[in-house]
Amino acid sequence: MDPARVMSVEDSRLARTFQKFGVVVERAEGAHLWGADGRRYLDFMAGYGVAILGHGRREVAEAIKAQLDRYAICHGSLYSPARAEFLEELFSVLPGHMSTAYMANSGAEAVEAALKVAVKATGRSLLMAAKGSYHGKTLGALSLTWGEKYRRPFSQLLPRVHFVGYGDVKSLEDAPFEEAAALFLEPVQGEGGVVLPSGEFMREAERRCRSSGCVLVIDEIQAGLGRTGRMWAHEHWGVRPDVMTIGKGIGGGVPMGVTVMSSELSDALKLGEQTSTFGGNPLASAAGAAVLRVIREERLWENAGRMGSRFLRGLERISSSRRLAESSRGLGLMDALDLRISVAEAIPALISSGLIPAYSGIRTLRFLPPLVVGDAEVDEALSIIDRTLDEIERKKRSIIGEKN
Ligand SMILES: *Cc1c(COP(=O)(O)O)cnc(C)c1O
Repeated sequence: MDPARVMSVEDSRLARTFQKFGVVVERAEGAHLWGADGRRYLDFMAGYGVAILGHGRREVAEAIKAQLDRYAICHGSLYSPARAEFLEELFSVLPGHMSTAYMANSGAEAVEAALKVAVKATGRSLLMAAKGSYHGKTLGALSLTWGEKYRRPFSQLLPRVHFVGYGDVKSLEDAPFEEAAALFLEPVQGEGGVVLPSGEFMREAERRCRSSGCVLVIDEIQAGLGRTGRMWAHEHWGVRPDVMTIGKGIGGGVPMGVTVMSSELSDALKLGEQTSTFGGNPLASAAGAAVLRVIREERLWENAGRMGSRFLRGLERISSSRRLAESSRGLGLMDALDLRISVAEAIPALISSGLIPAYSGIRTLRFLPPLVVGDAEVDEALSIIDRTLDEIERKKRSIIGEKN
């Protein structure tokens, strides 16, 4: 289809819930995309962190094709070798105290299941999450998501949630742990702007959960699977989750979310209390098993840690030398650069220089590149960011110059 037609059909027929950028993606490989105009882009959005192995990874494509030749659907009431193989791979990389998985089709759905597990296990209905959090946009997950603009239009439908300050140990003191079914925490906040908590905060949250019977749910949907330099980001803080949610990259691009729980919670959900037609889908399972195998065999968290340090050093250089950049932070390949201009101005300029970033809020660029990137790609991204900020600054100066 003609690229202009692609854009006009999407713009006229799709609900306008996504901020759009004018790239029609023709093909993708590794950390690169090619537009319909033949241009190459470095993809540091990577589907908001979904393409952890890069695009078009052969092992994943082959696993999906082989499963497709067998069958594409096997309902959860029947057994599937692909599903069993996925579970074996998954439990080989999970913390040892995790015993049971519920398989869903997205991150938000994994969060919904976690919420149900906690409510069933405790008989309580109050929920807790952190300011700045993001847990998805279905109604249960939305209630745990901090962004006012997402929640306000639906507030009459949302369950009661108490928000603690993320990283704020004092805010835990008067939080209602005794009444709460669960405390949901991201090990690093993504949508909130790549915010790192302190280990002290995470451990105190865990301690209070333990002593009050509140379930600690760690949302690893964005930070997990090696991105931060450890297989699971919560390992950085030395905490033990009761429930974990996993999503984004787990299905190698096929929609998938997983909720895993410790043995004490494994019987919380009874027959029929949580199911989905597509849950445990064989195509997603085959892709997921391949993704996990590659991460484990190539120890990709190590590359994420190394490349992350290199990228972060570069972002620091940029934020100390470019006036339009304010500060940078991150962990492994989950990184951010705060700007003094809006991302609405910076992103189109970055894209026309050949880099596709993600963003958080109004002034923060967020980078979630594939975990397989190398030195050359990291350096290329840094040089595009540096050059683009310099160009925007020059343009601004010449406009001001003209006015004077
Ligand atoms: C993306 C994300 C979700 C929601 O996942 P969806 O697949 O978009 O529903 C939940 N929690 C975190 C931390 C996320 O990054």
